[in-house]
Order: sequence, then C-alpha cells, then structure tokens
Amino acid sequence: METKGKVHSFETFGTVDGPGIRFVVFMKGCPLKCKYCHNRDTWSAEGAQLYTAEEVMTEVRKYRNFIDSSKGGITVSGGEALIQPQFILELFKKCKEEGIHTAVDTSGYVNVEDVKEVMEYTDLVLLDLKHADELKHRDLTGVDNEKIKRFTEYLCDINKPVWIRYVLVPGYTDDEEDLLAAHDYLKNFKNIEKIEVLPYHSMGKVKWENLNAEYPLEGVREPTADEVERAQRILRGGE
Ligand code: SF4
Repeated sequence: METKGKVHSFETFGTVDGPGIRFVVFMKGCPLKCKYCHNRDTWSAEGAQLYTAEEVMTEVRKYRNFIDSSKGGITVSGGEALIQPQFILELFKKCKEEGIHTAVDTSGYVNVEDVKEVMEYTDLVLLDLKHADELKHRDLTGVDNEKIKRFTEYLCDINKPVWIRYVLVPGYTDDEEDLLAAHDYLKNFKNIEKIEVLPYHSMGKVKWENLNAEYPLEGVREPTADEVERAQRILRGGE
C-alpha cells in the first residue's frame, strides 16, 4: 500500500528552492520551533492534506514542460519533510524513474539511519545552518544541533551536493564570532556547492497571529543589503 504524505500545500513555480523552476511540496509537521519561522502553520501535522506519491506526481506532471525547459525539478520542503521519509522515498523513486531532478529543503534535524535510502534518490540537499553556537542554536530553534551535525557529516561522507542556507537575523545570527565559527565548520565539507544568506523578514508573522501565537521576533528589523553581503563574505571565507 502506498504511503500517504501529510502535505501542507504545493507551489508550482518555485524559483528559490533549487535550480530552475521547482514544483515545491510543503510538508506538514516540524520538530523545531525556529523563532524566525515563516511557515508557522506547518509545525503541526493537524489539518494536513493526505496525498500518495502517485497523486503528487499527477500534479507534478502538469508542469513538466516548465520543469524541463528550465532544468528545474521537484523540491520537498516544510515543515520538516524528512520526518516523513517513507513518503519522500516513494515520491523521489517515481521522480527518478521519470528523470526529474529531486531536492530536499531540510533543517537536518533527522536520524541518519531513517533517511539513508531517501538520500539515494536525492540529487541536492538544501540544508539550513541555523546557528554555529550550540546554546544560541537551542535558544533560536528549541533543539540542539547534534543530530544536524551528524546528518551534515553523513552528507559529506556520501559526497551529496549541498547548498547551505543561513537566515541572517540582526541581534540573533549576525554576531561576527558566530559567523566565523560557522565558516570554520563549513569549510571542512567539500560537498558544499553554495552558501546562501537569506535576510530575515517578518512576512510570516501573520501566520503566528492567525494561530494566536506570540511572535518571538516582534520589533526585530530586517538586515540591510550590506549586512547580508558581509555575512555572505564571512561565511564563504572571503574575510
Ligand atoms: S525548521 Fe523550518 S519549518 Fe521548522 S520551525 Fe524552523 S524554519 Fe520553521
């Protein structure tokens, strides 16, 4: 019997979650509680729409022309997509049978053993680096970073292409020492193809409000273009 995935929504013309035009599947459920989360409504699996992999493929195939002509593919995101490894495995197997590029957007907070098989069918991992400092990581996300480190090392061991994403939040993730420590950590991984700094924005705040949840970053400003550029330079080792 096919597994049913707990899906939040689809985005049919994603342009920021991997190469080309992406069909993005947002999954429901996340074990983290990031203060800057702009998908607060994905934390709980409650209210998810249930889809089999074949049902998702029916949607994906409608956009095949755009995916192919832009050298795009499918990206699973969330929430945390890899807490539903069996569903992602079934979906990605179908994608590979049909020659579709596959990417996972993940916090990396997973058990390596649970996702090894999924990784065999994954072309690219978009991996969040939340914070280099352990205590600040816990404060920012609600979890420690041990599992994430183990997963990051595993991706290096299997030489899986990785794009790192780092959300720059003034006063939370922009400390120079922390950025340098993040660079020191990342430079060990030869499988990292790209490091992207994503400027924090408060556009997701309304989703917290809709859930009657207090927004933890009330009053925090967005970083300037110069600050983003500086963080990018430090993380990439240009300073
Ligand atoms: S991992 Fe992503 S979805 Fe989960 S809380 Fe953090 S930002 Fe939100």
